[in-house]
Amino acid sequence: MALLDILLEGDPRLRQKATRVRAVDNSLRDLAEDMFDTMMDAPGIGLAAPQVGVLRRLIWVHVPANYHEDEEPELSIALANPEIVKAHGRVLAYEGCLSIPGWTAEVPRAEVVTVKGLGLDNRPVRIKARGWGARALQHEIDHLDGILFLDRVEDKSTIMQVPEEDTPDAAD
Ligand code: ZN
Repeated sequence: MALLDILLEGDPRLRQKATRVRAVDNSLRDLAEDMFDTMMDAPGIGLAAPQVGVLRRLIWVHVPANYHEDEEPELSIALANPEIVKAHGRVLAYEGCLSIPGWTAEVPRAEVVTVKGLGLDNRPVRIKARGWGARALQHEIDHLDGILFLDRVEDKSTIMQVPEEDTPDAAD
């Protein structure tokens, strides 16, 4: 198990576009494993490779069952080259980010998304997610394009500082 350092806002690597993964190889699988450990340790419900300084299109999302809503299924998946192919609905919720500790704000996101990508076994994956799973996927995919959640805030008056350990609804 290896814990990786999480980059903080202000680091230029968080603003770059990550490059596509040609094929999932052992080094990428090792990175995914370390990212998982880092995400669980933080703790967070998602992590994108650029947050640990690796500019490749790889994300983890790990939303436990019933995370915020009853009957919300667990979503735990690593995806290379994740891409939103369908999105509908719009929901507002307070979100946070491991790269912006101590801050939260209300972020609009699609309610349901269909995402395709490559699994760690290199096979194509297509998943449909809603609720926090959908939110975390959108948040992490944004990281691959250098977009941070504060960029998505429409009502700036909802941006609030909170004790780091209380960052609510941390999306990663
Ligand atoms: Zn984040």
